[in-house]
Amino acid sequence: MLSWCWPATVTAADSANGGDSPGNRPVTELPGVGAQVAARLKALGLERELDLLFHLPLRYEDRTRITPMNRVRPNTTVQVQGRIVHQEIRQARSRMLLATLADDSGQVVLRFFRFFPSQLRQLREGARVRCFGEARFGPNGFELAHPQVVSLGRDGGPPLPESLTPVYPTTQGLGQANLARLVGLAVERLRQGLVRLDDPLPADDEVMGLTNALLTIHAPGPNEDLAALVDGHHPAVQRLAVEELLAHHLALSRLNRARARQRAPRLEDGKGLGRRLLEGLPFKPTAAQDRVIREILEDLAGNRPMRRLLQGDVGSGKTLVAAAALVVAAASGRQAAIVAPTEILAEQHFRTLSAWLEPLGLETVWLAGKVKGKARRQALEALAGSAAIAIGTHALFQEGVVFRDLGLIVVDEQHRFGVHQRLALTAKGQRGRILPHQLVMTATPIPRTLAMTAYAGLDVSVIDELPPGRKPVTTVAASQSRRDQVIERLRAALAEGRQAYWVCPLIEESDLLQAEAAETRAAELTRSLAGIRVGLVHGRMKPADKQQVMDDFSAGRIRLLVATTVIEVGVDVPNAGLMMIENAERLGLSQLHQLRGRVGRGSDQAACVLLYRPPLGDMARARLEVMRETTDGFVIAEKDLELRGPGEVLGTRQTGMLRFRIADLGRDADLLEPVRALAERLDTSAQTLIIERWLGQAEQFVDV
Ligand code: ADP
Ligand code: MG
Repeated sequence: MLSWCWPATVTAADSANGGDSPGNRPVTELPGVGAQVAARLKALGLERELDLLFHLPLRYEDRTRITPMNRVRPNTTVQVQGRIVHQEIRQARSRMLLATLADDSGQVVLRFFRFFPSQLRQLREGARVRCFGEARFGPNGFELAHPQVVSLGRDGGPPLPESLTPVYPTTQGLGQANLARLVGLAVERLRQGLVRLDDPLPADDEVMGLTNALLTIHAPGPNEDLAALVDGHHPAVQRLAVEELLAHHLALSRLNRARARQRAPRLEDGKGLGRRLLEGLPFKPTAAQDRVIREILEDLAGNRPMRRLLQGDVGSGKTLVAAAALVVAAASGRQAAIVAPTEILAEQHFRTLSAWLEPLGLETVWLAGKVKGKARRQALEALAGSAAIAIGTHALFQEGVVFRDLGLIVVDEQHRFGVHQRLALTAKGQRGRILPHQLVMTATPIPRTLAMTAYAGLDVSVIDELPPGRKPVTTVAASQSRRDQVIERLRAALAEGRQAYWVCPLIEESDLLQAEAAETRAAELTRSLAGIRVGLVHGRMKPADKQQVMDDFSAGRIRLLVATTVIEVGVDVPNAGLMMIENAERLGLSQLHQLRGRVGRGSDQAACVLLYRPPLGDMARARLEVMRETTDGFVIAEKDLELRGPGEVLGTRQTGMLRFRIADLGRDADLLEPVRALAERLDTSAQTLIIERWLGQAEQFVDV
């Protein structure tokens, strides 16, 4: 555990030496960084020299020693050097270059499946070379396939490095060698004191200095604990993690202080509209819905902007909670808006909500990208005037959309939206210091251990109960080879009048390929299920066509819906009680959970079949096992965390939540307490230094 004592107040000025020394120099000033390289670096989040220093290696290669050839072992990475004693080009299925490299102790074969004329010259008989690569057992002893080769020439070649060679995470179009060169430049400048990083943490026996930590990470000696460096338990990595967590903590405290000055309209339901809403429903709210509605109404009645996250598993009834909030805003004479990430979901909200709210005399308005021409003009006019409730997609954020008086924003499936989008919508309701209230909803359960930090700055309400009568979805896994049997079962269920989804979540990222695969599958199923109407919905269809299919499915005219993952969030067709998911072994737990959440919404026993293509890897097997065992979103999220680690669970896609470069909330949870204590002891300039160093222009603390 870390134990810092804080000797005196440290200020940024103590060690700053002006100019670009703190590492703020843009990477474009480094030699060899043109527009294209700069763009690739930016994609990795590397814009300043400092960012290069904080870009940590994925792993290390040991090029500090040469392995004698008689000591080469299979499946190890080795560096060997010697003389080429034989070269040949072999004509197998294609041309292949084989060269035999020998030293005093033995020999290895170098094998190249593709090669350039220059390599033939480099590996001619008699040439002296050094090779680095993975040794395998081949037909003629050990061989290295596509090793990296350095010519040694007469001078014996470049000296061996004294430290291990880091391998950095990179991106397409930016070679490892180039990236390593750039990081190396920054590291060298740090070593020489040309970049001086102020160290806001006290020098202490237990805590490494910042510069020392960075040098250890980027250029560890051959005896350093590599496993610890890679998994982050090494004191050098911990040192950085502490500072990063500190930066987030400080930024959040500042944000909270700024927020204390903000105001919001008080929203109260003086007209009893909420009661009338509930009276008109065919069901009674669950106790959990009641509770979170109360929590929300309390916030709305206050004069500070609500920022509340509503977490509730798929099917837990978040829409009703949203409706209750919308009604209160409208009853106070303000407007409220609800946005959803997909048109299908937004349209569904529009239908549900207008059916609930119009009878209360509230005017609802629909706006999405596809609303054009006269309809759009009318919608905009209503938003600027008489409308009470706006329902739509991100079209509501766009320029030219003006609200009369927006008092509440509800964002459904908030992880699908970026911070900027939420900001744009908030701005539409802002009047100086007065901001609209915000309710963001998600079905992606964040494990309790992470919720506090991941959603720092938001209050959290949880619906921890499903409406009564729901039976957990029965889930089975079946090999693709049993597809015919699965189709037989499906036919029987459809014959009884039930409805089903057939999901083709294609592995390919391309929309086009996904759509094609779904089309093929729909055609096949139409053939094998003669007499059953099969529909198809995918991301490349025109919105109107998509909607028509969803309408037909909702109304029961389509009995089997073949779909890509466009139906993943929010779709609610209670009569659909069966779901087949193809390629289930390729999907993550949370995505499977979301998809499966589309069924089990009615009172019939629902079932889900996870079709997989064998052989199953360990991870895939474990995931399918979890899906079979439980339908509890929280348990699934905890398992996901266990299997994948928090970085993945929180995901980079899920903007609006904290992202860390180095810290890892799962691994470093025990640093949070010391970080808080440490924060107390920093003066303003040291705080600013840390925030700027780590967060720079980062958007996660934009005040939304
Ligand atoms: P989600 O939390 O996934 O958005 P929805 O709001 O779509 O869930 O609700 C799922 C289904 O449950 C809908 O058909 C909705 O009408 C129904 N529902 C919501 N609350 C209740 C309740 N208290 N009792 C019975 N059914 C409910
Ligand atoms: Mg929903």
